[in-house]
Amino acid sequence: MSILVKNTTVITQNKNRELLKNTDVLVENNTISKIGNVSEKADHTIDGKNRILMPGLINAHTHTAASILRGFGDDMNLEEWLEKSIWPAEAKLTPKYTYWASLLSMAEMIKTGTTCFNDMYFYADSIAKATKEAGMRAILGEVLFDFFKEETKQQELNKAKKAIDSIIAMNDLRTRAAISPHAIYSCAPELLVAGKKIAVKNNTIFHIHVSETKKEVDDCVKKHKLRPIEYLENLGVLGENVVFAHACYLSKNEIDIVKKHEAKIAHCPTSNMKLATGGVIDWP
Ligand SMILES: [Zn+2]
Repeated sequence: MSILVKNTTVITQNKNRELLKNTDVLVENNTISKIGNVSEKADHTIDGKNRILMPGLINAHTHTAASILRGFGDDMNLEEWLEKSIWPAEAKLTPKYTYWASLLSMAEMIKTGTTCFNDMYFYADSIAKATKEAGMRAILGEVLFDFFKEETKQQELNKAKKAIDSIIAMNDLRTRAAISPHAIYSCAPELLVAGKKIAVKNNTIFHIHVSETKKEVDDCVKKHKLRPIEYLENLGVLGENVVFAHACYLSKNEIDIVKKHEAKIAHCPTSNMKLATGGVIDWP
């Protein structure tokens, strides 16, 4: 199949980040085959006048199916919002719910230029099915919590392994599985370490919320005499495949640790504004 976008403005990501005006782009069998003045006919032609054509945006931290809970539990801080509002609602989730709710989010993402997302949510296999149907790219992790209960830890690890196996079995080149423990205040260290081993074994991303609020940092210092990133480094879970969501309250030493391990940070300004988390990373 071929698609021709005629007479558009192309925002490239080449070395010089060139802007190409009045340009045609031909896509053949999912590959850009010509850029410039294209005279060939295509199966589909799109008039690109007064539009821009650019690489898709990537959302580095999502809870895709949670979009349907927007506005639920407003005017609360993170802890109250999670415990009184979001977690009780999410406990009623079903695979069918996450499938339809994530499709809604994907429609919104496609409409606004996002083509890839890094997700942490329940029923990752249902979200994978929706992702394939939407034609998006995604890294999907089953969200893991054990709330420091030994018996729950193994259940959570089994869920993670099942989600990874079903995503791999889909054999969709655009979808990858990840390991997504929720946070240091909801996951025991044993769960984090075991999750990291699964991530390494499957050569995938280890995606976790960290230092989203000052309370999280204060509680961690009180409990472990370490700040969250220092605590995670001590557990041996850091590495270049680690994605930290939020990271609002990092010390200079923690920023150095993130750099040393080449871990990544997903900055979440909209979420931080909604929950008035009050912190922002102090870039060196
Ligand atoms: Zn999050």
